[in-house]
Amino acid sequence: MGREYANIIVDISHEKLDKTFQYRIPERLQDQIEPGMRVMIPFGAGNKLIQGYVMECGDTPEYDPGKLKEIESVAAGQVTAESTAIRLAVWMKEQYGSTTNQALKMVLPVKKTVKGIVKKTIVSNMDRARWQTALEGYERKHQEARIRLAKELMEQNRLPYELVTDKLGVSSAMLRSMEEKGQIRVESENQYRNPIGDIRREEPLALSSEQQAIVDDIMSHRRKGHGRKYLIQGITGSGKTLVYIHLIRQVIEMGQQAIVLIPEIALTYQTVLRFYKAFGDRVTVVNSRLSPGEKYDQFMRAKQGEVDVVIGPRSALFVPFERLGMIIMDEEHEGSYKSETMPKYHAREVAFELASYYNASVVLGSATPSLEANYLCEQGQMTKYRLTRRLTGGTLPEVHIADMRRELKEGNRSIFSRQLHEMMEERLRRKEQIILFLNRRGYSGFVSCRTCGEVMQCPHCDVSLSEHRNGTLVCHYCGYTIRKPETCPSCNSRYLMGFKAGTQQIEEALWREFPEGKTLRMDADTTRQKDSYEEILSAFANREADILIGTQMIVKGHDFPGVTLVGILAADLSLHVNDFRAGERTFQLLTQAAGRAGRGQLPGDVVIQTYQPEDMYIQYASRQDYDGFYREELEYRELMEYPPVAHMMCVQAFATEERRGLGLITKLTKELRIAAKQGGSLPTGERKPEPGGAGTVSVIGPAPAGVGKVKDVYRFVSYVKSPDRQVLVRLKDDLERVIRELPLTDREYVQFDFDPMNI
Ligand code: ADP
Ligand code: ZN
Ligand code: ZN
Repeated sequence: MGREYANIIVDISHEKLDKTFQYRIPERLQDQIEPGMRVMIPFGAGNKLIQGYVMECGDTPEYDPGKLKEIESVAAGQVTAESTAIRLAVWMKEQYGSTTNQALKMVLPVKKTVKGIVKKTIVSNMDRARWQTALEGYERKHQEARIRLAKELMEQNRLPYELVTDKLGVSSAMLRSMEEKGQIRVESENQYRNPIGDIRREEPLALSSEQQAIVDDIMSHRRKGHGRKYLIQGITGSGKTLVYIHLIRQVIEMGQQAIVLIPEIALTYQTVLRFYKAFGDRVTVVNSRLSPGEKYDQFMRAKQGEVDVVIGPRSALFVPFERLGMIIMDEEHEGSYKSETMPKYHAREVAFELASYYNASVVLGSATPSLEANYLCEQGQMTKYRLTRRLTGGTLPEVHIADMRRELKEGNRSIFSRQLHEMMEERLRRKEQIILFLNRRGYSGFVSCRTCGEVMQCPHCDVSLSEHRNGTLVCHYCGYTIRKPETCPSCNSRYLMGFKAGTQQIEEALWREFPEGKTLRMDADTTRQKDSYEEILSAFANREADILIGTQMIVKGHDFPGVTLVGILAADLSLHVNDFRAGERTFQLLTQAAGRAGRGQLPGDVVIQTYQPEDMYIQYASRQDYDGFYREELEYRELMEYPPVAHMMCVQAFATEERRGLGLITKLTKELRIAAKQGGSLPTGERKPEPGGAGTVSVIGPAPAGVGKVKDVYRFVSYVKSPDRQVLVRLKDDLERVIRELPLTDREYVQFDFDPMNI
């Protein structure tokens, strides 16, 4: 390929500046410049030196070559980006709609010098026996933090300082006092390496025959160089992680590398430690808490081939591995795999694309697979395996449904049904633990009748209406608005209201009704501090409390063998979110929350409290019936033309003036409707309309977005649906052309979201 000219994107993040400029590559730089490089270029009339990214190199000028300016230099601290990263960025930009710059920033690590970071390690000065004596003393005095540290130091001689202060909750003052007593010492090292430090390696457990069959099957394809896709469906505790570890071991033996995606919330110390024990310092962790410098350091280690395995949330996909052999995606149904910033990509789709560049294998795992993943299996595009047994023993819990309408009718106004109340008393007497799960995921103010369970719904969209402060009920799909009725339209009851109880109210109710029970609460308020999430969970695991109250955060992570009762409060709350995935999410959450009971040797009970005991999602979850749920949900998606059967593109218009935002979305929606009539293409586009396309595209909207205004920026949305995703991608291209011609201000812009996760 010729290298005389380079197309360069200027490093300005602006929705409209989605454009490359051509520059001449001076001879002295010709064997250096590569796609992805950051370079300094003279720009604009004043020839001010600014930085840009090289997108592609070529030998044909697009303009009069005499007028082209020259690249000045390669930017200092330059990272040689992988060509696959650029290729992936170009693909993401096309598929999801973003500026080239936004896509590039997603895939390229930011060079930041890591300077002066001191790595501290806690080193034990005592042997096991002396720690045992110390431990007994701590236990008498209930010094929980010291107990945790002593237990860890009995297993590992050295522990990273941050791990001890953050995850074990040991204060630095406490560490100083232990150091003064000579129990430990703190070593400092000037170089930043592995964020977790030295961990003793351990041989992973041997596989059961069920697990072995899966590993053998996947690896037989891998050895033939086939990059296939797999889904492992198995409840928590059925041994998926051990399967991943064995797969990766063989991938490494083949000289290849692996990426393990885990949702941030499940990326706990316990999980990470298992990978460290298996792969030592050949594994590295990236998470959102790493500073840009640390992240860059991890990326460079990966690039230089110093690591074989990277674990992290969705952004771990962009670690520059040159010998990628496998991508594993645990808890693949999790919403956090979808990016909420541009480009709004889904990690599953990007994983498939990236894997195709390397012929790598992709392994998804979940107890409750997404409709998307299971649909791909049905379509023959993925192979599905099941793990059916819980390997640590324990039986599946017995699930009871408490009808809260009946509780009210029979005079019980407590948050707790009588059945749950009785079971809780019994558990407290027996010194067993209880989890109370408040299901308020995505809750956005729907209104329901406490007497008959009726929920106020939009007559046009099959979603619940949201209550607004001005006393109206609004549909965030189509804009339908009514005044909030005084009484229930179906039974005339006056108990028509929104749901008010939060985790705090539940905790207060517990103090009143169960004063003997010690409580821990976990929600957005109590976990705001770094790592307090894990502190609360480990405190509960150490039996420092009898009852753990929490939102969806508690359904992941630690195992609690002491828990024999799970109460699910307001099980139906997440059903009425304005979102076609509300039912799926409710099923997943309830199934996983229920799975938290009876992990240990004692049998467990689950009480699902609901105003709609007959609801299909609640019924399927109570029976832990994934296949039944999937069948019925897929029928609904087919009927409504929702993903995974069809695809959906959300067009979001942002503006500081409400009137202009509405004008913008109205204009775009009009264009979309014209295109829909012509089968998915605008006359302004460069293409001919697709034959036979009429009727395959439908447009909904415009309407104010679910959250209509954020930081004084108004948001409006429209939706387009089509069975063919590429039709939507082309519509997006057409709209981008329309948008470029519009006289928009700096603070007016449009974003695209394909198959949105949060509506
Ligand atoms: P998952 O990822 O599905 O939750 P894990 O791999 O974490 O399952 O396994 C759950 C528990 O069962 C862990 O404590 C693990 O050590 C244990 N386990 C998994 N596989 C085996 C096995 N083949 N033999 C013995 N114990 C196992
Ligand atoms: Zn009613
Ligand atoms: Zn509607």
